[in-house]
Amino acid sequence: MMRLLLIGPPGAGKGTQAVRVAEHYGIPAISTGDIFRANVSEGTPLGLQAKDYMDRGAYVPDDLTNALVLDRLAQEDAGSGFLLDGFPRTLAQVSTLDECLQATDGGLDAVVQLVVDPDETVERLLNRAKVQGRSDDTEDVIRNRLAVYQEQTHPLVDVYRDRGILVSVDAQGDVGAVTDRIFAALAGRL
Ligand code: AMP
Repeated sequence: MMRLLLIGPPGAGKGTQAVRVAEHYGIPAISTGDIFRANVSEGTPLGLQAKDYMDRGAYVPDDLTNALVLDRLAQEDAGSGFLLDGFPRTLAQVSTLDECLQATDGGLDAVVQLVVDPDETVERLLNRAKVQGRSDDTEDVIRNRLAVYQEQTHPLVDVYRDRGILVSVDAQGDVGAVTDRIFAALAGRL
């Protein structure tokens, strides 16, 4: 059983690393951003509600987000562990996750913080905008997403540090080197 969370600002490489790390440990990578984007492109009711928030770089309200995650964690493939990417992002979401995991047999094993220089994240996101064409990768929206991260999500780093499960990894440079740093940091803990 391995329950992991990747946390870090937009542009830190969470999505890329989540896929690699989850594959290595044989657990599903659960990305709330990916689930929201799939709902938006399929035009589901959830997608229609989420789209305006996403396009502004604001967080989707906790009630919608929590329901989506609880539903996903209840699926069979998450029964033997998972790697969360992009959830929890608020203190209220931390409480929801805590309650959900307490109902089974324990909490997260480790929280991996991806640490990057803020100027580099803006650059990475602008490059991604050219490659993937995400509607929330324009410069104004990127700056808003970074501000929202600092205000609402960065405080979670202290919460998990206080619990003694935070692992901080330098997320700059080569993708494979960052993955190796994550494995090395987790090796001592799992
Ligand atoms: P991401 O792909 O993780 O950068 O997420 C893209 C967008 O989806 C965010 O800017 C939010 O609008 C929304 N989103 C993803 N995860 C969450 C979450 N845990 N809480 C609220 N909104 C979220």
